[in-house]
Formats: sequence, structure tokens, C-alpha cells
Amino acid sequence: MELTRRRALAGAAAIAAAPLVPSTAVKAAAPMADKQAPSYYRYKVGDIQVTVVSDGKNTSPLLDSFITNAKKEEVNAALEKAFLPRDVFTIYFAPLVINTGGKLVVIDTGNGPVANVNSKGAAGQFVANMIAAGFDPKAVDMVVISHFHGDHVNGLLASDGTPAFPNAEVLVPATEWKFWMDDGEMSRAPAGRMQGLFKNNRNIFEAGLKKQVTPYEWGKEVAPGLLAVESVGHTPGHTSYVLSSGSGKVFVQSDVTNNPNPFATNPGWHAFFDQDADVAEKTRRRVYDMVAAEKLQVQGFHYPFPGLGNVEKDGSGYRVIPAPWNPTI
Ligand SMILES: [Zn+2]
Repeated sequence: MELTRRRALAGAAAIAAAPLVPSTAVKAAAPMADKQAPSYYRYKVGDIQVTVVSDGKNTSPLLDSFITNAKKEEVNAALEKAFLPRDVFTIYFAPLVINTGGKLVVIDTGNGPVANVNSKGAAGQFVANMIAAGFDPKAVDMVVISHFHGDHVNGLLASDGTPAFPNAEVLVPATEWKFWMDDGEMSRAPAGRMQGLFKNNRNIFEAGLKKQVTPYEWGKEVAPGLLAVESVGHTPGHTSYVLSSGSGKVFVQSDVTNNPNPFATNPGWHAFFDQDADVAEKTRRRVYDMVAAEKLQVQGFHYPFPGLGNVEKDGSGYRVIPAPWNPTI
């Protein structure tokens, strides 16, 4: 007993004398990693194989104006309730690569190469991660766009301004195309963010893609097994999809909500990036009531990776329950 105590005291004195962390680097048994593994995740919907490919994330300070009808303190309280840090908001991005057996289809393209440089690699990871997942951008047959915000369309162009998927047909929602390509709408757009979006879309679709796109209509299959569904509000032509094959079915929501915390838990909150916030809220409640009632799995572009889950009603809002990670396909 006495010996043990003396030894323990000697040990404590030694610890006090020596700094816990050596000031110079030492060789550990294994070096510390400085990079996450390439983020992609596969699952099947009937005979179709889905690969969710991360485009990374963007963390920014929580602005007072982030949600137009809730106070910053209320937003912070909701973040804390979800075990998320206060005063910042993280948005995740996850385009899809869908192998239908006959066609290789990409849904949305992420933030693109300029954002990759500007964010020091945090966002704009889509092409690097899809290559890591075994896909060649040249082998993509179709790129389907849900709506014309930068985090969905900027990856259409490579860093030299040429098409990032040179052999793909680019399919865009007809209503979205009409709105953003309308010179009258562009001339009436408020200065700042909206004018910037018009400019960005004109650069991508006119200068980059030379208007070589195929507009698609809602209620029709845009690719094999991929039904386009109207879900407007976030943008005038915002589109979701029902992906189905055999008995498999997934609702690809695009941006019906952003990160479920706090936007599924508080479906009445209006984020500044919803162009028509009242319509976006109506769409959000209609879609989430439907997927909850039908127990239909949802794939969310802005959900934390890999973004597949189920939705249930929870008080006045909804809760998204992530699907368990499946280590096999
Ligand atoms: Zn988005």
C-alpha cells in the first residue's frame, strides 16, 4: 500500500515536471492523417445502383438574416437542441451518380472547381470523389439538374470553363430554364444575390454549355426510373424525383428542406435562400406529409452525408431518421 502510494506520488511529480505535450514532433507508431477518406456511399433501388457522392460542406457564420421569420437566438436554441454548435451553420452537398444498367446519370453537380479552390477543398469535391468511386466523368450519359443554384449547377463546368461531363446530355427543368433565361426576369431581379444568380446561370448555360440543354417536364421520366416531380418555392422550377425500380423506391427531394436541423424540425422557418418562402413552406409540408405517410425513404442533397433517411411527424414539425450505414451493397 505504502509502496504503491509512494510510487504514485513519484509518478505525479514526474508528470508535473515534464510537459504533457512535447514541443517537438515525435515519431508516433502511425502518422496522423490530414485528410478524410473520399466520401461516397452506394445503395440499390431495385435494379438501379445509386452512389451518393459528397461535394463537401460549407460552414459559415449564422447571420441574423439567415431565417427571415425567426430570431437568431431561436435558431441557436434549435441548433443546440440538435447537438450542433451555436453561431455557425453547416450546409452539406451530395450529388448522385445513378447507374440504371443502361445509362450513367448524374443528378446535380455540386459547387464546382472555383469553390473547391476558394474553400481550400471543403466544397467542390464532387468530381474528385466520383473518380475515387470508380466513375469517369467522360462516361456520364446524362446530367439532370434540379434547380439553378450554384451548389447544383457550378460543377457543370470544369476549371477551364468547358463542360465537366463532355459526353453527357444536360437535362434541366423547363420552368427553371424559362425563368433564368428570361431577359425580363433578369432585368427585374433585385440587386445582390438574385442578380448574381442570373449572371452565374448565364455564364454556365450560355458561355459554358452554349445553351446545349434539354428542358424536361414534370410528371415524366427524365431518365430510366427517374420521375421528375414539381416541388417549387425554393426556386420557380425546383424539381424533386421519384427513383423507382421493381419494388424499390426513393424520393430524391433536392432542396425541399436544407439540413433537417433546423429546417425539418421547424418547417415554418423561412430561409433567405428560398425564393418564394410561402410556397416553399407549403411544398415542404406537402412533401413531408406524403413521405411520412407513405414511409418513403428520402435522399436529401443537403442532409448530412450520406443523406438517406426516413421522415416522421414530430409535434408541429418533422424528424429525419438517417438510414443505417450498410457496409455491403
Ligand atoms: Zn442547394
